[in-house]
Amino acid sequence: MVRRVSIFGATGSIGQSTIDLIRRNRDAYQIVALTGGQNIDRLARDAIDLNAQAAVTSDPARLEDLRAAVSGHQIDVSAGADALITAAQRPADWVMSAIVGAAGLAPGIEALKHGTTLALANKESLVTAGPLLMAEARAHGARILPVDSEHSAVFQALVGEDIAAVEKVIITASGGAFRDWSLDRIATATPEQAATHPNWDMGQRITIDSASMFNKALELIETKEFFGIDPAQIDVLVHPQSLVHALVGFRDGAVMAHLGAPDMRHAIGYALHWPDRRDLPVERIDLARIGQLQFAAPDDTRFPALRLARDVMDTGGLSGAIFNAAKEAALDDFIARRIAFLDMARVVEQVLTDLSGDRRLINAAFTLDNVANADQIARVKAHEVAARLNG
Ligand code: NAD
Ligand code: MG
Repeated sequence: MVRRVSIFGATGSIGQSTIDLIRRNRDAYQIVALTGGQNIDRLARDAIDLNAQAAVTSDPARLEDLRAAVSGHQIDVSAGADALITAAQRPADWVMSAIVGAAGLAPGIEALKHGTTLALANKESLVTAGPLLMAEARAHGARILPVDSEHSAVFQALVGEDIAAVEKVIITASGGAFRDWSLDRIATATPEQAATHPNWDMGQRITIDSASMFNKALELIETKEFFGIDPAQIDVLVHPQSLVHALVGFRDGAVMAHLGAPDMRHAIGYALHWPDRRDLPVERIDLARIGQLQFAAPDDTRFPALRLARDVMDTGGLSGAIFNAAKEAALDDFIARRIAFLDMARVVEQVLTDLSGDRRLINAAFTLDNVANADQIARVKAHEVAARLNG
């Protein structure tokens, strides 16, 4: 049976790894929609090569470039945020959500509304609107399959298990580019240094988030929202080798660990073939050659992001949307060299402090409009705080 597949964020790191797996067995798939942003050449090349029905760029200013790039081929082209929603309405069996940032939320929700299985790389969807996402999936009988490596690992460790028997979920963190750097040195880090990851090859934004541990902070919230686990039962463990992706401890003391090479095609392929396992082109790990696995507790002083995520989980409501938006805005300001590396956590903390007293904002119902509103307010405030730090 040919499966109808759409890929949101097809031109990015996760999107390209997804396409790599599909290309290896392309007769098994019919490509419905591919979406991208500024990289029109890559979007058009893949849309033509994979015979996609539709290609969408998030940037309306690039629509004519996209049209020209696919001319002569039967591919519907469109652009903008609304076009992403329309693309998510096209019937599909499996949709990859791999846009980076809060922009990934609305198309994912739309796919769930159509009962489509959603392979979720976009962790921001769960951080900003976890309860909304899970409710839409339930209401429409749609399945969400985790693609973040740690969450795929937990998901796999839970196959056949009762979630009530879980005592602890431990997600691992490589520690990012600055794991062994002193606080003084981290204070001077440049965007280029932060965008270099020791183990994983990922998009620029998530790589910098790994260096600040904001990626792990988002993943703590993602774990809580996806698995419905109490935050006190979720731990982070630094594991520089990125071979153990997560561990699940059960009430009888047993611990199931998930190991694999640091290659996102594993988690993507697991979600693509679920509930089956199929051959995947990932490196096999050789523990005899590796010899030792290293673990350490995370350092909250150099990496305050985890503490902030715990505050967010305590506060609840739309504080996740505020946290994520403030983080995205602070990251924009860091990449643009308007603030220093450690200022990102300062900005996020200040925004949370300023807005968490606003109960009407925080406790508004989980709707796309309310999430977008909280996101917008937090972004504006984050840029203000950043400008003040800078001046
Ligand atoms: P990336 O930057 O490589 O690609 C992002 C994609 O999103 C591109 O196709 C880009 O065109 C598109 N995009 C960017 N801004 C957009 C907008 N405003 N509207 C619509 N589309 C937009 O990112 P990535 O590293 O592939 O990460 C994608 C998602 O997967 C993120 O949520 C990330 O946290 C998550 N994730 C990534 C990895 C990884 O290994 N790269 C691992 C786990 C989770
Ligand atoms: Mg991860």
